[in-house]
Amino acid sequence: MAKSYRICLVCRQLFQPINNKNTSYCELHKPKDTRHRVHNKAYDDTEYRKNRKKIKELQKECQWCQTRGSTQNKLVCDHIVPLSRGGSHHIDNLRILCMQCHNKRQGRDHR
Ligand SMILES: [Zn+2]
Ligand SMILES: [Zn+2]
Repeated sequence: MAKSYRICLVCRQLFQPINNKNTSYCELHKPKDTRHRVHNKAYDDTEYRKNRKKIKELQKECQWCQTRGSTQNKLVCDHIVPLSRGGSHHIDNLRILCMQCHNKRQGRDHR
């Protein structure tokens, strides 16, 4: 059972890789994974705000039930492919739904 040691590119110390056998950094100096942060910022995206404005001008009614919205049932901008599944803020992935349909949809295919 040979233990494999590597030399950290930052501190030049020998270390033993724990999970990732191909890493060239010790636990202290391994590159931070930033992918987890993207999701929180997603709704603050300038592309989203721009395209949401556009789609609201194009679609004046709910794409499912054709209601034009009311104070009880507002129209909202919906992502056809949810961001959590890799959907984008592209205008092709946006549509207008009323609150009722949007809630129905979330109940139905949320995960
Ligand atoms: Zn190091
Ligand atoms: Zn609707």
